[in-house]
Amino acid sequence: MKITDGIYAYPWTDMMVNNCNTYVLQKEGLILIDPGLKRYVPQIMAGMKKDGLNPDDISLVINTHSHPDHLDGDAYFLQTRAKIALHEEEEKFLKHVGVDFFQMFGLEPPQYRVDVYASEGTLTAAGITLQIIHTPGHSPGSICIYWPEKKVMATGDVVFSGSIGRTDFPGGSSSTLKKSIEKISTYACDYLLPGHNEVIEGAVEIKRNFDFIKRSFFSFL
Ligand SMILES: [Zn+2]
Repeated sequence: MKITDGIYAYPWTDMMVNNCNTYVLQKEGLILIDPGLKRYVPQIMAGMKKDGLNPDDISLVINTHSHPDHLDGDAYFLQTRAKIALHEEEEKFLKHVGVDFFQMFGLEPPQYRVDVYASEGTLTAAGITLQIIHTPGHSPGSICIYWPEKKVMATGDVVFSGSIGRTDFPGGSSSTLKKSIEKISTYACDYLLPGHNEVIEGAVEIKRNFDFIKRSFFSFL
């Protein structure tokens, strides 16, 4: 589904299955954010084709974090030309702790590869220069991905429409999440692309959402 020029969303809508939203950014090529569960990746590829996007043009897959409902689908891209990016802290976490989540979800251990560390700072692929923002709290190496040219931010499981990421999983920290939310709330955004639930459009709506989150959740974090 096209959100606006260069930004496509493949939202997960089946409440019976925990899977994440996938996003695709387009310029000279494509960047895919969070492939979700491996078994549903073909559905995303079909959705992309319907939107006139060629999955072979994906040159970079970025994981906002390593939870199975976001990263399991990396396996699909191992045989493609796409490079795969994850924060270094998150790779360490995945190796030592995060790998157990896959069993908890009834999944095989993840087949993945990290080609690029998505570190705080800029990351360029497909003619798109992104700002990677390290936003731990939901998991130690969670990142938000900001495309200044479009004023769009993918937030993974840091914030949602009317809600925030849980911090009760191993590697979670509510006080850290609070700092991360403060950090991303200062960016000029016209589109907020959360890892679950609906996309938030418009600077006013996005500010309203951050204000609501700060009012509703910050005294508990
Ligand atoms: Zn998560």
